[in-house]
Amino acid sequence: MPAKRKNISPESLVRPLVRRLHGYVPGEQPKVRGLIKLNTNENPAPPSPKVLRAIQKAADERLRLYPDPTAQPLRQALAELHGCKAANIIVGNGSDELLALATRCFVEPKQNGDNSPKKIAKQTIQYFTPSYSLYPILADIHGARINEVKLPRDFALPENADLKKLNWNFGAALSYVTTPNAPSGRAYRTRDLANLCEAQKGVVILDEAYVDFSDDNAMRLAKRYPHVIISRTFSKSYSLCFQRVGYFVGHPALIAALDRIRDSYNTNGLGQVAALATLSDLGYYQNQFKRIAELRASTTQELVALGFDVLPSKTNFLFAKPNGITAFEWFTRLRDQNILTRWFDKPGIRDRLRITIGTEKEMNRFLSLTRTILSKHG
Ligand SMILES: *Cc1c(COP(=O)(O)O)cnc(C)c1O
Repeated sequence: MPAKRKNISPESLVRPLVRRLHGYVPGEQPKVRGLIKLNTNENPAPPSPKVLRAIQKAADERLRLYPDPTAQPLRQALAELHGCKAANIIVGNGSDELLALATRCFVEPKQNGDNSPKKIAKQTIQYFTPSYSLYPILADIHGARINEVKLPRDFALPENADLKKLNWNFGAALSYVTTPNAPSGRAYRTRDLANLCEAQKGVVILDEAYVDFSDDNAMRLAKRYPHVIISRTFSKSYSLCFQRVGYFVGHPALIAALDRIRDSYNTNGLGQVAALATLSDLGYYQNQFKRIAELRASTTQELVALGFDVLPSKTNFLFAKPNGITAFEWFTRLRDQNILTRWFDKPGIRDRLRITIGTEKEMNRFLSLTRTILSKHG
């Protein structure tokens, strides 16, 4: 006779905080043939042939061995690239993993009791809206307090005096700033970011996931300030989403603290191989970035000619408000024809679509379909 099942409600075994959580919702990845994916900011070009060869060469009987636990050769190569030391760098299973580690490393979970502004600040994660939609999820998972600060209508970075009026907390334990921002695509001037960092007391993570598509970057701030971390990823610009490799550059004391709480083998071996090979073939990618920037400009022009409002973008995507139809209609009609874009059902940005720059062919198809949708509508 089978043992009698204990009368336990499995849900009751789960922490209340976790029971209430809403997980991150990634852009859809359907496996449909002929699909044009302009919804997750993946690079339409493959990794360089050199990178593919390096991965293929590494996929042999050595797969049974653990990878380098500190990703030392990769960190050394990154240190040379950025003109710092390996001690300034931590590598992770995508930058998402490192962003999550940062919440556990720098922020106290919400506590009842002493609610002095100082205590509250220590428990606070803050970021702008709109920006990367993972930040609130990470804060919720950690049980931190959240301070969301709404960007102005043009999505520009407010000056410090205005930030104060918007209740930006200059004492917050951790602030995430996506730069260039997503989904707006807007770049912030390093001088303006420096002003923000200068006034900030807690850790600031400048999330530069799209920085390779821009003309400037804020790496020098991570070298200048002990509380500023730069977050980078091989996913978007280096066509390695599949491999999951990202990294932080920051003060050795912050990096060492993050290092203490990460899994020993957090960065998989083939990912390390792929990232290292990428760094030895950067020229291949420079050409791609140029092509994407050109296509970004021409697509913007075409959409503007249709009367659409397109924000100036320094990323590999556009954030566009259609003319004559709603963003949701545009999104749905494109989707009916196997073109995926991203529509966010959120206040302030419901009227726009985020469109990843794909290949020239994909963008032509996207534009011609958009024209058809408009003409049928009008
Ligand atoms: C895609 C993205 C990331 C995550 O990158 P991974 O390295 O693939 O985890 C982080 N931040 C922003 C703003 C992104 O768009």
